[in-house]
Amino acid sequence: MNDWFQRQLEAIEAEGLTRTLRSLSTGNDTEVMIEGNKYVLFSSNNYLGLATDSRLKERAMNGISLYGTGSGGARLTTGNMVIHEQLEREIAELKGTEASILFSSGYLANVGFISSVMGEGDVIFSDAWNHASIIDGCRLSKAVTIRYAHADMLDLEEKLRAWQGDGKKLIVTDGVFSMDGDIAPLPEIVALAKKYNAYILVDDAHGTGVLGERGGGTVDYFGLQHEVDFVVGTLSKAVGTEGGFVAGSSLAIQYLRNRARTFIFQTALSPGVIEAAREGIRLIQYEPERRQRLLKNAHFLYTNLTRQGFTIGPSNTPIISLLIGDANQAVQFSEQLMEEGIFIPAIRPPTVPQGSSRLRITVMATHTEKQLQTVVDHVGEIGRRMGVIKSVGNLV
Ligand code: PMP
Repeated sequence: MNDWFQRQLEAIEAEGLTRTLRSLSTGNDTEVMIEGNKYVLFSSNNYLGLATDSRLKERAMNGISLYGTGSGGARLTTGNMVIHEQLEREIAELKGTEASILFSSGYLANVGFISSVMGEGDVIFSDAWNHASIIDGCRLSKAVTIRYAHADMLDLEEKLRAWQGDGKKLIVTDGVFSMDGDIAPLPEIVALAKKYNAYILVDDAHGTGVLGERGGGTVDYFGLQHEVDFVVGTLSKAVGTEGGFVAGSSLAIQYLRNRARTFIFQTALSPGVIEAAREGIRLIQYEPERRQRLLKNAHFLYTNLTRQGFTIGPSNTPIISLLIGDANQAVQFSEQLMEEGIFIPAIRPPTVPQGSSRLRITVMATHTEKQLQTVVDHVGEIGRRMGVIKSVGNLV
């Protein structure tokens, strides 16, 4: 079999798409060590800085000392503790739903929900830029999946209108798109769902804790808590820990406990993670200044990089993607940034479509003004040197 692996790897290399792991001292701080050198990190999902907050660490350690390092079983056997149920209630409160259910990751929440709720005779309308875990959930579900052009409401409506089946209809969208940082047009999606009698699932992995006055996410941002049926989220980004969840009606959650295979057959999340997540969910709501700082930092980078002439989609979130196009050029750009002490990874196919390789910047609330200015200066300089941008605009 090794011959086969060798040939596959050579084919991947020939396309310039080989992926390698880098060892970071941490993925949570603004300054990190990577293989002996120091870098300013602009690619962490620790948006609010909670993963390194002392209160989360203390809660995690306390959880471990009270209950142990592992949960000891699946939720439906011996792994269900009072703290799991408390966290589920707290997530439901944050999301404005009746109930929620935990999964080991956001990935498994999407797969578990979609594959158990949607089946033969049903149809899923899925945004073309949705996350891989949504795509995998659709594939496992046996429902017909119809992709609509990214955030294109005319295309979605055309496809809804053309569908003739009698089964359930589900529109699935990321709340904040993970590669471009743009926000889904939820008010329009809600209107179409009503018109065509469809349900809505929003994957708010990147919106949770980041958008909305209380950090409730994209649905909160638009004030649509009563219109969106189901929300998937992760605890691994703004919340600062790991794990995923589905929030929705009590009946939906009861159903998932009975039917979602990625819930039933997985060991429950461990006590340290649960307790830290509870503290993260609390701080998201009681320390809005973190969110304000995050969005201010993101706005600073977005406006300054746009002024320099980069092609950036309409992002008002902490994800800012500089479109480069060619995969090799994107990698070179990232490597030159590393020489200047800045770590921003290149994102290439198959994560993004051919010809849309990019540098994906993620901002944190904990970045300093100096770090933000440094990245603007170096990214601009390298962009001009490589011919990715042609001229310098006004900097603020
Ligand atoms: N949905 C989206 C939009 C994501 O970006 C991610 C994480 N990359 C996930 C789901 C999966 O979440 P998790 O990392 O918790 O599995």
